[in-house]
Amino acid sequence: MNTDVAALRSRLPEGLIERQPLLWLNPGYDPQADGGTSHLDPALAEVRFARCAGLLRQVFPELQASAGRLISPLVPIPRFRDGMAPSGPAGVWLLKRDDALPVAGSVKARGGFHEVLSLAERIGAEAGVLGDETDRRVLAGPQARAVLGRHTLAVGSTGNLGLGIGLIGAGLGLRAVVHMSADAKEWKKQRLRDRGIEVVEHPGDYAAAVEAGRAIAQADPLMHFVDDERSEALFLGYAAAAHELQEQLRAVGRPVDADHPLFVYLPCGVGGAPGGILYGLKRLFGRHVHGFFVEPTASPCMLVQLACGIERPVSVYDVGLDNRTEADGLAVGLASPLAAPLMASLLSGVFTVDEAIFYADAWRLEELEGIYVEPSAATGLRGPLQVLDTPQGRAYLQRQHLEARMDGATHLVWSTGGALVPEDIRQSFRERGRRLAGAV
Ligand SMILES: *Cc1c(COP(=O)(O)O)cnc(C)c1O
Repeated sequence: MNTDVAALRSRLPEGLIERQPLLWLNPGYDPQADGGTSHLDPALAEVRFARCAGLLRQVFPELQASAGRLISPLVPIPRFRDGMAPSGPAGVWLLKRDDALPVAGSVKARGGFHEVLSLAERIGAEAGVLGDETDRRVLAGPQARAVLGRHTLAVGSTGNLGLGIGLIGAGLGLRAVVHMSADAKEWKKQRLRDRGIEVVEHPGDYAAAVEAGRAIAQADPLMHFVDDERSEALFLGYAAAAHELQEQLRAVGRPVDADHPLFVYLPCGVGGAPGGILYGLKRLFGRHVHGFFVEPTASPCMLVQLACGIERPVSVYDVGLDNRTEADGLAVGLASPLAAPLMASLLSGVFTVDEAIFYADAWRLEELEGIYVEPSAATGLRGPLQVLDTPQGRAYLQRQHLEARMDGATHLVWSTGGALVPEDIRQSFRERGRRLAGAV
């Protein structure tokens, strides 16, 4: 082993390279940090969503019922909680169901809608059909659609981002091209093509597909590349989820304060979606929110990046992991350079899970609560036990003086995708989950 790899590995928790599921506490976590020093303002996205609500309602029938607002349900999961922890650890367990977000069927709807809306507004303004005060519904009119139809959205994706961007873009009259890695599943490519989205396949992994897509888009002024690793528009779209959650927690009578800490468990790929959401929550709730990411044991890119220091990019390959996982959307080798520096002080920790755990948990969730989510979206379900029931978790609670306050805690598991998984694929996931549930 060369000395560089050895030096990096020395910063990683024991067992990570052996792919053991574990909880890592972020030594850089700063309870006082609340994102206030960053220029990124989630209000920009909230205002955009609000002024585009009429447009969204008109274009997407799925958004009629919510008057053009993008909202996912917040639901209790008491039976799952009792099944996981019969002795009944403290607090209330809730599931934030972004698996049921309209149009895109995953958390990507949040970032994707915001980015595509900001692009459509820009194109409309440049074409002279939209002024600052113009009702955004003009973007659904014939003149604007003719202009938008000349533009293409391009995106690199292992699945959900491509699907989200493609469907949202198509609704607004934009063409969409999705660049996929060679290892992407056939059913995913088919699912995109079935919905009129163009698929281009590239050799190599996710990062390579993103790179290839970015290069092609750069050469074409009418092509806009949605950059999963660096886009501030995506990030802010995710961050806007915080206010929605605040309203929902109020509605169900769950306060967030010193006596009622909020623990949030978020599946992490490049880190844009969970990073944006946690960033938004930190700006609202500060030190009373405790954010934990969950990553597959083969792809803990945020853990590796934060543990090795954010001064330079470090991927899971650099430390000898292979990034091979079935977890759709989480098979990412290198963390987002936009999200990672922000997470360095805001993120409490990362836990890792292997396939046997999250397939089984997805199956259990459906058995006990009647809620179907895709396996990647079930990864956060181990979060409460990681915090309540492991030495590292208890050390965190002690360090943050939370032990005596856990009766008032809310454990929020963020479910990130599922609605658009075809039935035959769901069935094969279920069977696998049922088999694995017997063994874990
Ligand atoms: C994309 C995705 C995530 C993670 O989002 P990142 O921005 O890549 O970190 C989590 N779960 C699912 C199902 C996803 O599609």
